[in-house]
Amino acid sequence: MAFDSLSDKLQNVFKKLRSKGVLTEDDVKEAMKEVKRALLEADVNFKVVKSFVKSVSDRAVGEEVLKGLNPGHMVIKIVKEEMDKLMGSEMTEIKLRPSNEITIIMMCGLQGAGKTTTVAKLAYQFKNKGKKPLLVACDVYRPAAIKQLQVNGEKVGVPVFAMGDNNKPLDIAKAAIQHAAKNNINLVFLDTAGRLHVDEDMMNELAEIKDNLDIAYTILTVDSMTGQDAVNVATTFNDKIGIDGVILTKLDGDTRGGAALSIKAVTGKPILYSGMGEKLTDLEPFYPDRMASRILG
Ligand code: GDP
Repeated sequence: MAFDSLSDKLQNVFKKLRSKGVLTEDDVKEAMKEVKRALLEADVNFKVVKSFVKSVSDRAVGEEVLKGLNPGHMVIKIVKEEMDKLMGSEMTEIKLRPSNEITIIMMCGLQGAGKTTTVAKLAYQFKNKGKKPLLVACDVYRPAAIKQLQVNGEKVGVPVFAMGDNNKPLDIAKAAIQHAAKNNINLVFLDTAGRLHVDEDMMNELAEIKDNLDIAYTILTVDSMTGQDAVNVATTFNDKIGIDGVILTKLDGDTRGGAALSIKAVTGKPILYSGMGEKLTDLEPFYPDRMASRILG
């Protein structure tokens, strides 16, 4: 389960806090040191940890907490509230245009992050909500990626628009939008090309699509198991092309959780969904408060 190790460590800190009837400022300081260590070991961004611990400490050493009835519980509650805040507090929903208009969503991400799987998962969720989605194969560099999208589309019952690998991604996207308009489709997902690393050509290609089409959302898929690398990738994509949100994949296998806890605070962009497995149904909306509860037990 995700966050196991962080969760265990924080539980230990909380157990100590709960066992004390009276808390001194030193007790809180000691607990915060342990919280800090646990977060750093979970690969949470260093600056994020520092400001998190400061926010909790500032609130926790106040008179009303330390002199309150149940100071241990109050400190734990503050940790939970600050953790919610760190991840964005509210669930962020993708808002589509009215059904008679086409919403275009551009999916981007590095190769292997889970983009092609995730785009099919997402299309499936919207199909189940009564939308008419189309998956568009804009990754012209890897024929296997086109095939994979077709296979995934078939599995979830969503049509796939492909033009092989001899056209420019922007031209494929334009043709797909015309196709959508003619076929009563109101949600177009562009599955763009990934690369092994951030590279200039990839960014230029994405920027060209964004500059020429009316993209409603640019969504980045990042692999949560890559920890702070995922955060750095998100920062770079946001700086270069601008993203509206992130989908964090492979959270099911991430025992540390550093990316989930850092991305919003570092990039300012919300986590929209999390990938919880390889099956095309394994995608969950990201609720910061539920995630904080899961981590804190
Ligand atoms: P792409 O190169 O970014 O398009 O990545 P793929 O969609 O091909 O995914 C790469 C691998 O990650 C595949 O084996 C997927 O099954 C797997 N994968 C994608 N999302 C998840 C997830 O949320 N959990 C797990 N466990 N595996 C995932």
